[in-house]
Amino acid sequence: MTQAHRIVVLGGGSGGLELASALAGRAGRAGLAVTLVDRVGSHLWKPRLHEFAAGTVTSTLSEISFYMLADMRGFRFEQGCVEAIDRSRRTVRLASITGADGESLADARDVAYDTCVVALGGQTADFGTPGVAGNAIRLDAKADADAFRERFVSLMIHARETGRAAKIVIVGSGATGTELAAHLRVAERAFFDRAGEPPDRLLEITILEAAAEIMPGSDEALREGILERLSALDVAVVTGAKISSVERGEVRSAAGHWPADITVWAAGSSGLPVLARLADFNLDAKGRIRVDEHLRTDIDERIFALGDAASLTLPGEERPLPPTAQVASQEAAYLAGVLPETIEGRVVLPFRFKDKGKLVSLGRAGTVGLLGLGRRNDVFIDGQFATAAYNALQRQHQWAVLGPLRGSLAIFADMVSPARGPALKLHG
Ligand SMILES: Cc1cc2nc3c(=O)[nH]c(=O)nc-3n(C[C@H](O)[C@H](O)[C@H](O)COP(=O)(O)OP(=O)(O)OC[C@H]3O[C@@H](n4cnc5c(N)ncnc54)[C@H](O)[C@@H]3O)c2cc1C
Repeated sequence: MTQAHRIVVLGGGSGGLELASALAGRAGRAGLAVTLVDRVGSHLWKPRLHEFAAGTVTSTLSEISFYMLADMRGFRFEQGCVEAIDRSRRTVRLASITGADGESLADARDVAYDTCVVALGGQTADFGTPGVAGNAIRLDAKADADAFRERFVSLMIHARETGRAAKIVIVGSGATGTELAAHLRVAERAFFDRAGEPPDRLLEITILEAAAEIMPGSDEALREGILERLSALDVAVVTGAKISSVERGEVRSAAGHWPADITVWAAGSSGLPVLARLADFNLDAKGRIRVDEHLRTDIDERIFALGDAASLTLPGEERPLPPTAQVASQEAAYLAGVLPETIEGRVVLPFRFKDKGKLVSLGRAGTVGLLGLGRRNDVFIDGQFATAAYNALQRQHQWAVLGPLRGSLAIFADMVSPARGPALKLHG
């Protein structure tokens, strides 16, 4: 009997999990054995991370066990932190696991591959700004969202008891910063004393942006729509604030300083430091692995990369594709389609990106965005339609990960869930 071709997907995020699920569905027929590796035991869809942080997450399905999914979809799951790829031996090294008390729980392991896909995601870049690492929270993983929420809840309790509003400063006016601000305004309501008089503000929120306008590079209609809604939510926005340092309790720039009980750093993105140690990959200026139009690394035909870990500049474009779930998902769908043929040595079409637009969910102030209808025809949308379009991205992810039947049931369950709507989740 011939041995199955081993595909190892590193990272079970927006792109990696969709890829592993789709490939596993074809594994038997195509003679593939699919293994997914992730450092944590459950998948959390990152575009909703700010909602986990604010406690406003409404979907019951935003976090799901990899072990359960592996059994359900037919791939193997290996939990461990990826340290290195040995290209000559075709193995991936996973770090040893140590318990909280220092006890060794599992030795370092090697996972063998015939084809490997790097889908380890990215991180928020601090551009070397002093104090960010020690004094600001960056929303890169669930642990960050949990740390934020714990501090946020105690600050809000303190604000209610003392009448002194908590101060949250968010650096960066991209989707993460603006969405977080809006969802924090929703979360604030949980701390109002409903029996009493309408309360004073318990929470002051400020967004600081280094550029002259919010969401630099975005369409003007989108920027105006967001500014209008942030103003309605009583979120202060300061542009032209290039941050020089983040101190404990204060954010500083040449133009001024802002007191902060919590500082969230949500400006820019880069590749994970591990990508530079993984193998001798060529990285772009942001530390992401350069890939060609087939998502193949330029040093090894057996290794591919996708999503935030990859840097792909399409023909005719000046810049690489942005680090979004939309890109990661389309790249995963592409690889799921072409990898079996590529492995058989057949020539496949290159990857093409279809921009479906940009949507920003602002809690009770609604959703605004641009619906992609081709590069020059983007349409500005808001209201129910925009909210439905925003939710559609996650619905699509649920489908890809759970399959059509379970995906549909999950979506229905979400729709009838008592936790739907403005419910708050202020626990882990
Ligand atoms: C708050 C927030 C809001 C966002 N909103 C949107 C949005 O509305 N629309 C949109 O398109 N995009 C959005 N994004 C961006 C989007 O989440 C990312 O672009 C997308 O998740 C990238 O997918 P990925 O598969 O490349 O990586 P990720 O989804 O980040 O997954 C990476 C996986 O790799 C694992 N991993 C990392 N390092 C290791 C290691 N050393 N060993 C083992 N496993 C490892 C992680 O645990 C994770 O499971 C948002 C991001 C944030 C933070």
